[in-house]
This record gives sequence, structure tokens and C-alpha cells, in this order.
Amino acid sequence: MQGRESGSNYERIAAEYIGSQFRQFGLQPAGDVDETGKKGFVQRAPLATAKFSSAPKLSVVSSGNTRSWQFGRDFSVSFLRAAQIVGPLQIIDLDGTPAKGAIVALKLPENADPQKRQDLIRRARSAQAAGVILLETETNKRSRESADLKLPTLTTGIQGDSNVTPFGVFLVSKEVNDQLLSIPNDARVEFDGPTEGEGGATWNAVGVLPGSDPFASKDAIVLSAHLDHLGANGTGPDPIFNGADDDASGCVAVLEFARALAAGKRPRRTIYFVCFGSEERGGYGARYYVAHSPVSLDHVVADITFEMLGRPDAKVPPNTLWLTGYDRSNLGPTLAKRGAKLVADPHPEQNFFQRSDNYTLALRGIVAHTVSSFGLHSDYHRPSDDLSKINFSFMTHSIESLIAPLSWLANSNFRPAWLPGKAPNAK
Ligand SMILES: [Zn+2]
Repeated sequence: MQGRESGSNYERIAAEYIGSQFRQFGLQPAGDVDETGKKGFVQRAPLATAKFSSAPKLSVVSSGNTRSWQFGRDFSVSFLRAAQIVGPLQIIDLDGTPAKGAIVALKLPENADPQKRQDLIRRARSAQAAGVILLETETNKRSRESADLKLPTLTTGIQGDSNVTPFGVFLVSKEVNDQLLSIPNDARVEFDGPTEGEGGATWNAVGVLPGSDPFASKDAIVLSAHLDHLGANGTGPDPIFNGADDDASGCVAVLEFARALAAGKRPRRTIYFVCFGSEERGGYGARYYVAHSPVSLDHVVADITFEMLGRPDAKVPPNTLWLTGYDRSNLGPTLAKRGAKLVADPHPEQNFFQRSDNYTLALRGIVAHTVSSFGLHSDYHRPSDDLSKINFSFMTHSIESLIAPLSWLANSNFRPAWLPGKAPNAK
């Protein structure tokens, strides 16, 4: 499957495969309607994408002087959400606070923990900075200088959705970094280059188990995961990011819940089983889903997203999973009372609550959390996140232990609620 890259044909094949499994388990299709009027299990989200036709530039204008650097020769790009990004240069150290609209350059010792770089990118995004400029690592440098370096392509958003904040992460050479850090703080940074528009898409797999009760079936529960991963973009002998834990394990959980809940006595409430595309690149599958939900979002009483539960987390007791944003709503504690081996997320500093598709649904007011057992293993987003690392007995046990609590939720009248002041604010 070549790493099921977001928005790729392999992602589409994964969506179709999951849809075919949903069909086999007896779910109803809840995806797009085809030319013959037949509903399928796959939902296609059209994306707007763009491709640079020649190398883009990064320029800094300071007191009337312009310095320009060229993609490939001086810098590369690790994340891009707009073809043109402009903002005032803000130079900060690790404890600094990124400013809204700024392009943030980081004063960082060369041997700094890579995790700190990730933290800064995250903080810059949540502060709505326009971009981050970082000194490249040795690995970044090698790929920048390699003959395979391609001009960046970017997804600018879902077609017809203008609600995307421009953001870019630029990895610069040592020379550029030294020059940048000596520039006074009144400078202005521009990233720009000629682009050609291209159409793209991402794919979700959506199946539904209609509720059996005439009243309770109006309530919907969403059980979700993401089917995409990072593609075959690695270097070396194993370039394929298989994403066995991230998030094939979550898809397996959703499939198993579909199989188990469809096989038993039909639950009173309606359950949507959804595997999203493009979680790894912009969360576009989930964003499209909430804008084109097969059921009015007012009727969705909860979403539970499953991410990375193929390996145990040593930070929590054996055979236990954790729930992001546990103390934000009464969903986790209530499921725990019903036998779910669920505890609070032991890595609050990672902000996992905001880092998966659950958050897209949460911003729409739905009580939405992610279940995981990710113990921050070093195979995260590496080609080594492979099947051989999956702990099948742990994973089977964890998934099985949730079937009864989920079945209870699907048969109850319990409507989960955010605790006072704990609902995430809509953007
Ligand atoms: Zn993931």
C-alpha cells in the first residue's frame, strides 16, 4: 500500500478496502452516491492543491534591503499550507512566545532536542503565527542536497472552503540561519513562487449501523480512526512509512467494533464507523466529513477516535488505554465505570487532544476524544512503525475490552457533556 499517503491513490484503495469490510460486516453505506444513484462506503473530499513551477524563494526585507534565498540551494520546506506566506520576522529563543501572523525564527543551540523544535512548531501554529524558520538538521541537509529533491506541492484546503490559515515550516542552511539571526527584529519575511493549480482529493470510508429504537436511533455515535499515513517518502533501504501503529491499529479497532456490534443484537442508537483520509496532512478528511456529515451534527452525541493502540504505554497500568482530554467531559469516566480500561492521557504536554481528528468534531461542539496507548515510541512517523512492532495480544485485549462499554453507550440514553468551561473554543 506504499504507506497510504494522504490524498494518494493508495489512500483511496485503503478507503475502498475498509468500505468493503464494512459491507461484509453488514453495515449500510453512508458515503457518496454514484452516477447510478447507488450509495457507496467511500466519501470523496475534493481538495485544492498547488504545485510550484519553479523554485520558490524566501526573502527578508529589512530597512530597504532585500536578501533572497532559493529553495533547494538555501532551504527546504517541511510543511506548507499556502503558496505565498508573508509576515514580520520574529526571532525568539525556546521560551519565547510566537506572535500571531509572525514568521518565527528560532535561536537554538545546535544540539537542541528535536522534540523542542516540534514543540515550537506546535506553539507557533496555535498562536496563529504564519510560519517557522528552523536551522536544518543533518538529515534535512542531506535531503535538501539530494538529487531527488522535488519542488513543494501543497494542499491549500478543501475546495470551496476558504477557512485555511497560511502556515509554513522552512528548514534553512547554517549560512542562512546565521544571516537571519543577525537581522534586526523589524524585518519582513516573504515566501513566494510561481504555482500551477492542481485538483486533488482525499477519501473517507463511512459505514452506518442504524439504531433499532425509533427514538434512540436519532442519536448517533461516531467511532473513527484515520486510514492515511506518510507514504513512501523515506530514504534508505526501507522508504515506506507503513504506519502499523499510526493508524492501521486504530482502523483495526474501528473494523472490529463494526464487526462485533453489527453481529450482536442491534444497538438502539445509530453508530457511524468512519476512517478518515488526510489526517496526517491537514485533517482534511475529518474537516470534509463534518461539513458533509450523513447525519445532522446536532444528533451526534459522541465521537471516539482511535489512534495508535498497537503497543502498550509504560506510563499507564498494563492493558490500559488512555483518553485525550479525559477531564474535559464526563465521557471517559462514565465509560470507565462501565468497565472500559481507560485513564487520563499521561502526556498532557503533548496536547494530543488537539492533534487528531477528534478535535475537528470537538470544535463543532461534539463531545469527541481520542483513545490511544501511544507511549511516545521512537518509531513514530518513521518507516520503522512496522507490523513487527505491534503487540497483538495487547491490541486484541484492548480492543475487546472496549466492546462491552461501547455497546452499553450505544444502548443507553446517556448523552455525554463537556464539563463547565472545558469545551474547546470554536475557531
Ligand atoms: Zn495518527
